[in-house]
Amino acid sequence: MSKNQSIGVFLSEEKIKSRVNELANQINKDFQNQEVVIVGVLNGSFIFCADLVRALKIPATIEFVSLSSYEGTESSGEVSFRMDVKQSLVGKNVIIVEDIVDTGLTITFLMKHMKLKNPKSLKLCSLLLKRARLKIEVPVDYLGFDIEDKFVIGYGLDFDGKYRELPYIGVYGE
Ligand code: 5GP
Repeated sequence: MSKNQSIGVFLSEEKIKSRVNELANQINKDFQNQEVVIVGVLNGSFIFCADLVRALKIPATIEFVSLSSYEGTESSGEVSFRMDVKQSLVGKNVIIVEDIVDTGLTITFLMKHMKLKNPKSLKLCSLLLKRARLKIEVPVDYLGFDIEDKFVIGYGLDFDGKYRELPYIGVYGE
């Protein structure tokens, strides 16, 4: 019996793949003849980011950031940097790649911080969004799926550090 047999499929591998390709095609179109800096938010976006960049046809450099949000501070949105980008973003086309936007507090903090680096353009690409959970308006330029309020795992998303390797997205406990 597989260790993940009990986790049902919410978004299948095929469905994710096709949506990721659509997002990449949109980015290819929007940034035709331009270069982009892809900034993946660790750890959750590493698989999404890897698939997305491989579907890009425009020149791209890849960076990762790591953030930590302090326990019990969800409402204040208190977030800090563990790791920032290593290159200057001045005058660059920057696309932040996130796994999921839930309350929106983490990404709002990150977008504000990235704006201060004076990029030419700053876009947000998120695989998932729980619109009903948003505490603050977050404009997602490239969105994979708008999902209901369920705790999802797989395709990079974890529960207690586990399940990131699942090729599909499932709902934890279902
Ligand atoms: P926000 O600041 O938008 O509330 O939090 C976003 C972060 O919360 C995501 O980057 C992710 O780490 C975590 N998160 C929110 N919802 C889920 C979920 O359904 N599953 C998993 N695995 N993580 C989630």
